[in-house]
Amino acid sequence: MTILAHLRLVHDRIEATCLSAGRQPGSVRLLAVSKTFGPEAVIEAALAGQSAFGENYIAEGVEKILALRRWRADPALRADKPAPALQWHCIGPVQSNKTRLVAEHFDWVQSVDRLKIAQRLSEQRPPELPPLQVCLQVNIDGGANKSGLAPGDALALAAEVARLPRMALRGLMAIPEPAIDFVAACAVHACAKELFDQINAAGVLPAPMDTLSLGMTGDLEAAIHAGSTMVRVGTAIFGGRQVRQAAAPAA
Ligand SMILES: *Cc1c(COP(=O)(O)O)cnc(C)c1O
Repeated sequence: MTILAHLRLVHDRIEATCLSAGRQPGSVRLLAVSKTFGPEAVIEAALAGQSAFGENYIAEGVEKILALRRWRADPALRADKPAPALQWHCIGPVQSNKTRLVAEHFDWVQSVDRLKIAQRLSEQRPPELPPLQVCLQVNIDGGANKSGLAPGDALALAAEVARLPRMALRGLMAIPEPAIDFVAACAVHACAKELFDQINAAGVLPAPMDTLSLGMTGDLEAAIHAGSTMVRVGTAIFGGRQVRQAAAPAA
């Protein structure tokens, strides 16, 4: 099957789930996670109408961002196909020595879990670019060796990040461990939704967060039932990866 056909199936899953959850189809954005796949795969997805892409590994992501920029700028490379505008999300761990690359190349970063990293990203965001759009990554199920801040620390960090000049706080992101069944998956995603609502209700942010980034290939239905507004899907669009970061539960 082509990437176009896979994208259609994923959109069908999202829409069917929105309907069964009593939510507006269109209230859930699709982020295509293109990590480990080359620029050709991104081009194929972009020509199929996909505009938002997620990358885990920063150097690999920047290479692809630059390749796609060359492709968009060159009608000969594109063979006169349309050049849709793309939006790039950093969804992998950000070390201090990589903040500049993220600040200079990505539109969003969904994996901020420390103030120090947020401050560096804000300082290094080039003045000619719009503010970096940010989600805080929360370790919602308390997995031992996982990145993400403790849920109890999220409100304080949200308030501080919202004050940084070159950042726009958009929401929360979480990557729960695969759950044993649908009910358990809904329950853990619901914890993230509850935290999201609590932070918005606390009255410490200049504007409410609008993005709850939850759900991947294996658990997007549960995430949408819980209130996700953005699902991050790799395998169901691009196929299996050589090196898997987060194994999806068997379908
Ligand atoms: C790899 C990855 C995804 C996509 O996972 P799939 O199971 O392939 O859909 C989503 N979010 C993050 C943070 C990832 O690292």
